[in-house]
Amino acid sequence: MDFELTEDQHAFADTARAFAQAELAPHAAEWDRGQVFPREAIARAGELGFCGLYAPESAGGLALPRLDATLVFEELAAVDPSTTAFITIHNMATWMLGTWATDEVRAEWGEPLTSGQKLASYCLTEPGAGSDAASLKTRAELVGNEYVINGAKAFISGAGSTDVLVLMARTGDAQSGASGISAFAVPADLPGISYGKKEEKMGWNSQPTRVISFDNVRIPARNLLGREGEGFKIAMKGLDGGRINIATCSVGAAQGALTQAQRYMQERKQFGKPIASFQALQFKLADMATELVAARQMVRLAASKLDAGARDASTYCAMAKRFATDAGFMVCNEALQLHGGYGYIREYPLERLMRDARVHQILEGTNEIMRVIIARRMLEGDAPNAIR
Ligand SMILES: Cc1cc2nc3c(=O)[nH]c(=O)nc-3n(C[C@H](O)[C@H](O)[C@H](O)COP(=O)(O)OP(=O)(O)OC[C@H]3O[C@@H](n4cnc5c(N)ncnc54)[C@H](O)[C@@H]3O)c2cc1C
Repeated sequence: MDFELTEDQHAFADTARAFAQAELAPHAAEWDRGQVFPREAIARAGELGFCGLYAPESAGGLALPRLDATLVFEELAAVDPSTTAFITIHNMATWMLGTWATDEVRAEWGEPLTSGQKLASYCLTEPGAGSDAASLKTRAELVGNEYVINGAKAFISGAGSTDVLVLMARTGDAQSGASGISAFAVPADLPGISYGKKEEKMGWNSQPTRVISFDNVRIPARNLLGREGEGFKIAMKGLDGGRINIATCSVGAAQGALTQAQRYMQERKQFGKPIASFQALQFKLADMATELVAARQMVRLAASKLDAGARDASTYCAMAKRFATDAGFMVCNEALQLHGGYGYIREYPLERLMRDARVHQILEGTNEIMRVIIARRMLEGDAPNAIR
């Protein structure tokens, strides 16, 4: 087992760090304050391959291992978790389309998406179906050689500013559960699609979140991803990687916050000496670093399980998401505390990092649902071999 990164992996991380410093760091606070979606910056990330990091080459992606993708996302998130999180969602939806679309649809959308010229949203959640996503009600009826879509999706990241929607909708009857769900690529500007108001959020302000309504929206039958009834499986496969990505955004935010706190403790003087000389604060710093390293290693372990196609990869993705998003929020919060009152004002990035990291404990499956997934796996028949 080798925990060292290869030269290539260091190079990916260096490129991402340089991009983050040049393109994200100078604007992240202003995008947060003004709720600006930085489409041009995302397109420039696309020029470096960051919009199709693990999408298949047949769709114009780099087809990198998930582990390598985490190195890029961590560097970006250390500066701007909100914009980075959107880029990760776009990567997830692009991978789903690139993997399961028909050749025709892949040829139409693959290159524009992986290059960042066009953007994708992932549409699973509904107003009445959050944690219980398999109870979703949006319908897609096959009529001739078209599907007709009716229903609504809630909390959709990027909605209103993206070009294609990777949509999960019911093709089976109302009682069909997960096996009655199919996935589709839906152009975002079709007649019958309407967007709700931009949600006012605590964080993730550089990306819009909206409800999307579908009223007799017609798409060609070839826009089905995979086969009818495979949509929930496809959505969950997307989320395995998505959970690693969101966990990575927390690790990045935490690293950004910890670096700031470490510096600040040596600069800030109280009682005639740097606050770094107080052992209570040194211990806090040590705990933050320890949690952060544990979170990073767990995320990389889950990513390597997914890369290897391990049987228990989904369980590790859930564990990494649960642990890293909790640890990441804790580290951001403690870093804010170490800044005293200055941590609470917007001149410093701590409050933004903390606000952005908070939602990672909620989305792509709440951390309670991560526990449901882990425990279910442990209590299955083959439990002794489930987690090692
Ligand atoms: C900013 C933002 C962006 C988002 N982006 C997207 C997106 O791009 N695409 C998308 O599809 N979705 C998106 N979501 C939706 C997100 O995935 C859901 O909010 C999340 O899955 C939780 O669903 P819910 O909000 O309906 O909460 P609920 O499911 O109603 O849960 C409420 C509470 O009950 C708990 N709970 C529920 N069931 C159980 C159980 N069985 N055991 C224990 N506890 C339980 C939950 O953990 C939570 O604490 C986004 C959400 C936010 C806030």
